[in-house]
Amino acid sequence: MEERIIEEIKSNRTFLIASHVNPDGDAIGSALALAISLKNIGKKVTVFNQDPIPRNLQFLPMSPEIIHEIDRSLTFDVAFVLDCGDLDRVGKEIEKIRKIINIDHHMTNSGFGDLRLVDSQSSSTAELIYAVLKDIPIEITYEIALNIYTAILTDTGAFCNSNTTEGTFHIASEMVRIGVNPANVAEKIYQEMPVPRLKLLGLALNTLEILDNGRIASVVVTLSMLRKTGATPELTEDMINYPRSILGVKVAVLFREVSRNYYKISLRSNKDIDVADIAREFGGGGHPNASGGNMKGSLLEAKGKVFEVVSKRLN
Ligand code: 5GP
Ligand code: MN
Repeated sequence: MEERIIEEIKSNRTFLIASHVNPDGDAIGSALALAISLKNIGKKVTVFNQDPIPRNLQFLPMSPEIIHEIDRSLTFDVAFVLDCGDLDRVGKEIEKIRKIINIDHHMTNSGFGDLRLVDSQSSSTAELIYAVLKDIPIEITYEIALNIYTAILTDTGAFCNSNTTEGTFHIASEMVRIGVNPANVAEKIYQEMPVPRLKLLGLALNTLEILDNGRIASVVVTLSMLRKTGATPELTEDMINYPRSILGVKVAVLFREVSRNYYKISLRSNKDIDVADIAREFGGGGHPNASGGNMKGSLLEAKGKVFEVVSKRLN
């Protein structure tokens, strides 16, 4: 499969690279690593993401060039869709995207697109991009390495999640050999948080609920909390790790109010419980230990339904 993707890269000139709404480090890092690589071999590349780039990822090389709307006059020979389990994860511009190459590592990937490179054993989409670059081959410059390293760092939860393998460290180590400084990246990603994030965290932690004999923990982020603290929704990223960190908790849930009676649900679990399956019941998907979905209804209804499904899985 990789060969056909490489053929498409070699024989075409203009590329669109899209990744998922509410982008994370892997969505942006993979897209920018591929974009810089293609530019370096003389291709014309446009990077699209529907949503704003989280502040702590804006240091990534080429990040300012990401567009958030696709002008109808723009045409592309090929569109890469990265880190998306479903095509609709691209968001509202989806119908403008044709001739799709799907590169992803979600177990729940629906198999969309004309060509696919999908491997759920991969820690991140960036690992797959790395493999493609090696095969073409394209030289991995410092700018590319910085994007790949950041994508791997964030998607493995700083090398803590169960998707971290020997191969992951091998690639990370190569990125460091090329010039990436792990302490500098960690500082950018984890240690330059704006004050509103900590204020929001305080409010979110106040909503902590423990259920099912200590095996389920949940927190809530509402629109009113965002307003009160001046925080933007993407600052909620990783807050679910706090309920997840409690001794005895098997499944952590974060309910984030997106609009009135509409909640984004994030799920995290320890290695014994598959939450990708649970997320599917809420119109979403993801990885066995990190997944997400959505639900219409009041917070009470969302909680009732999610806790019921999770409890059933635990018992
Ligand atoms: P998060 O909880 O951080 O938003 O997402 C965790 C994981 O679940 C990510 O790998 C993300 O791609 C996946 N995910 C989150 N929301 C959705 C969704 O609505 N649909 C699908 N298919 N996957 C999702
Ligand atoms: Mn990913």
